[in-house]
Amino acid sequence: MIIDDAHYDAIVIGSGAAGGTVASALAAKGRTVLILERGGSLAREDQNVADVDLFRKDRYHPDEQWFGTDGDPFNPQAIYALGGNTKIWGAVLERMREPEFDGLAFQGGKAPAWGVRYAEMAPWYDQAEALYRVHGQAGLDPTEPARTVAYPHPPRPIEPFLEPLRSALQRQGCRPYDLPLTWSEDADDPTGDAELFGVDAALRHGGTSLRTGARVTRLHVNPSGTEVRGVEAEICGQRWLFRGDQVVLAAGAINTPAILLASSSDPHPEGLANGSGQVGRNLMKLQLSAILQRASEQNSGTYPRSLGINDYYWGDKNVSFPLGHIESGGGVLQDPLFAESPPVLSLVTRLLPNEALKRLAVRSVCWWATSAVLPDPDNRVTLRNNRIRIHYLPNNLEAHDRLVYRWLDTLQAVEADPLTRVVNRTWIHPRGEAPMAVMGFACGTCRMGADPGSTVVDLEGRCHGIGNLTIADASVFPSCPGLSPGLTVIANALRLADRLP
Ligand SMILES: Cc1cc2nc3c(=O)[nH]c(=O)nc-3n(C[C@H](O)[C@H](O)[C@H](O)COP(=O)(O)OP(=O)(O)OC[C@H]3O[C@@H](n4cnc5c(N)ncnc54)[C@H](O)[C@@H]3O)c2cc1C
Repeated sequence: MIIDDAHYDAIVIGSGAAGGTVASALAAKGRTVLILERGGSLAREDQNVADVDLFRKDRYHPDEQWFGTDGDPFNPQAIYALGGNTKIWGAVLERMREPEFDGLAFQGGKAPAWGVRYAEMAPWYDQAEALYRVHGQAGLDPTEPARTVAYPHPPRPIEPFLEPLRSALQRQGCRPYDLPLTWSEDADDPTGDAELFGVDAALRHGGTSLRTGARVTRLHVNPSGTEVRGVEAEICGQRWLFRGDQVVLAAGAINTPAILLASSSDPHPEGLANGSGQVGRNLMKLQLSAILQRASEQNSGTYPRSLGINDYYWGDKNVSFPLGHIESGGGVLQDPLFAESPPVLSLVTRLLPNEALKRLAVRSVCWWATSAVLPDPDNRVTLRNNRIRIHYLPNNLEAHDRLVYRWLDTLQAVEADPLTRVVNRTWIHPRGEAPMAVMGFACGTCRMGADPGSTVVDLEGRCHGIGNLTIADASVFPSCPGLSPGLTVIANALRLADRLP
């Protein structure tokens, strides 16, 4: 094993939404930081892919097989790169709503409270929106949480054909709003991400070092198991050991528990920080369904996500439990999630030649319906012969189905409206749920809370009983919001970084 000469104030594992953000915050405080990232820089031509290639499903899948609930191997959609999953995200950065922090009652049960209230998170959301240059418009969304500052930038203009669709939705009593987007203004790569606003910002401070192609395999502790003394990584086939005062795990909600489980030792026989037995448990991932409408005219197929609708977020006229969020998916030629999802189109994409596929895509308007799931200790990440195994059965399904049917009703009403000309009237709206392989929205596998008996980290992200190990990524979510989690990951990372010495 090669032992690195340097000693760092902090070692950050992973450079995605959490890792990149923590690194930049620590570097700004003058700390020496080492970022260990298993991926490398994503080639420009692989960023923001906008063509039918996306449907062939070979993009954005690492050369890795995980085992699924049925025990069969599958190839996850995830990205190991500088910036992590933010390199291919939809760039929608939303705040969680106040009641979601307090433990929301769903049809199938009550979600746990976070132990951190919205009011405590609000200043970190302000900072996160400023750091990631979020463009948005307050005051339109009926579920919008309280804010004391305006969005740092006005909303992005939406595609012209979506304006009449916005009016059509308003005629149906919906209150569409401009989705808040992180936007860099770079012509080649306009959406913001954690490489740009996290890693690059950290590197501008002199004290940051970056090792790419560095897959962390294990954390080593002192004999009493109360401190991490070394971080082991595989780099170009060789084992390396790095040392730092603080270690921040931010490898994402699947790989963070995998690293902890692989780090068992005499003081931690069931895996590091796993005294509660909760490491890897309570895996949640947003329920996602794509729904297609037929546009009456061609669009570019390459525009960003645009309109959000939360009129059914807390329920609808028939039920008083939360259903979820709707958003216009943006052009289907640049949406890696869509490329994975609708089974109807999956078949078509395999059969159709590129040109025909493109013609179909540019006549489509995609909507995403998203709903929360509840934590379930049986939904979990484990290791089998050091390979990742996911046991996952989604819940809160009735709420999601209701949301989808409510939205189909709304689309049909919009299409029947004689004033609406931008979409065609159809009786069938092809739709499909994101399959197991879509893991980008995973959270909850190292839940945060004050009780060491039932949680993995405390309210400051520190692993119970291990003084210098913090978990900063989506693993720490005690519950799953009903809409995009990325801004909460970033805001929480800023909050935790502020408390790190
Ligand atoms: C296609 C897609 C679209 C999405 N759209 C949105 C959206 O519009 N809005 C939103 O809010 N969220 C979106 N998400 C979800 C969002 O990207 C995640 O919630 C967020 O990135 C989670 O942050 P994280 O820091 O927990 O993990 P990640 O951002 O995934 O970062 C984890 C990092 O750790 C690295 N890593 C993993 N294992 C190791 C290891 N062993 N050693 C070293 N490094 C390691 C990875 O390479 C990666 O860089 C989307 C996700 C996907 C996949």
